[in-house]
Amino acid sequence: MHDSQTLQNPKSQISNRDIRILLWDIDGTLMRSTVQGGYKKYFTSVMQKVYGHAGNLDGIMPSGMTDTQIIYESLRGEGFTPEQIFARKAELLEVFKTEMTRVLAQNGEPFEILTGVREILTETDKNPRFINALLTGNLSVAAEIKLKSVGLWHYFENAPNAFGEISHDRNDLAIEAGKLFNERYEFAFPPEQFIVIGDTPNDIACARAFGAKVVAVETGRGQSSEKLLENKPDFLLEDLSDTKKVLEVLQTL
Ligand SMILES: [Mg+2]
Repeated sequence: MHDSQTLQNPKSQISNRDIRILLWDIDGTLMRSTVQGGYKKYFTSVMQKVYGHAGNLDGIMPSGMTDTQIIYESLRGEGFTPEQIFARKAELLEVFKTEMTRVLAQNGEPFEILTGVREILTETDKNPRFINALLTGNLSVAAEIKLKSVGLWHYFENAPNAFGEISHDRNDLAIEAGKLFNERYEFAFPPEQFIVIGDTPNDIACARAFGAKVVAVETGRGQSSEKLLENKPDFLLEDLSDTKKVLEVLQTL
């Protein structure tokens, strides 16, 4: 882990201009559910309890969506606006944590870490040139539960992460990630020093909305490499299994 002194003063180890901030997506990039649609088990009860409707969850393709976007898209047919979803944010986070913990305790959504992820995070974590953080559509409570379940949370728990409760629009998350970093380090990192790593066209779009670089990985369920290439990532990787190659790619950007 980077110690707190390093966090406050990255210049102590390396010129700020040489730092690259790695913004990791979670689902389909670091890890994935081993059962398709496992998320529905807790999303349904959360929406029932917090908003009084489960809505049209079955009609949603959640890949690349933020959790709050999934809830909004499911409930908009009931007349809900994003503002109404966010008005109950505190309750949403609390109930989400309870329901997700309950479903996972019943082995309702087993997760697996993707190949090479632990190795690349270990390398980037000890390399002073890189800082790891999350840029995820997951609510903070969901991200913590998921990453703890595969032993990855310690890489991110002290980072200025951007989570799905910031906005239902993923493009806002990347811009917010930049603000969170600048506040934490008291330094205006330019967007091109951020590298988004994700598995969907939405990850690429949010990086571009901010001005960040982007590495796409083909490990997301139901994502085609053609579709990812159409969105022009800086690099497209089949997976993260070749640690040396991934490091080379990240060092090029
Ligand atoms: Mg993803």
